[in-house]
Amino acid sequence: MTIHTVTVCPDCLTPRITSKQPETISCTKCGSSYDFQTVRHHFTSESQEEAILYRGYIIADQQGKGEEYKQQVDSGIFEVGPETASKTQLEAVKDAFTDIDQEELSEGEILDFANSWGVDQEKTRHILNKMIETGSILEREPGVYQKL
Ligand SMILES: [Zn+2]
Repeated sequence: MTIHTVTVCPDCLTPRITSKQPETISCTKCGSSYDFQTVRHHFTSESQEEAILYRGYIIADQQGKGEEYKQQVDSGIFEVGPETASKTQLEAVKDAFTDIDQEELSEGEILDFANSWGVDQEKTRHILNKMIETGSILEREPGVYQKL
């Protein structure tokens, strides 16, 4: 199974599709290399066709025509339901606890980590509260979290 990932070069903003999971990506346009794991994954799909559509959307959006593009293409990929979206964001927050090798994490560390995956602060705090409610993490003291 191949996963196609759409990333955007942090230097020149050229979107790119990668079908492997490389450690670093070299931008074909400006030559910058950037880290695949920490750069935001704007879109992932098993379908290359969908990834190409999404790359087209990023280009259109950069020209201020994102909404027009969505209407023209009229594809289900732009209608990610709240369930799918929250699952990905949930994973981004959860992964902070496995990827950062520490007993306890401060709120700032988690927010930074989740942010690097494109999850904003408000959403991250919301997810943290859910994780506390479901007992997967513990807030040891205000702003300090521990995985259970
Ligand atoms: Zn570039």
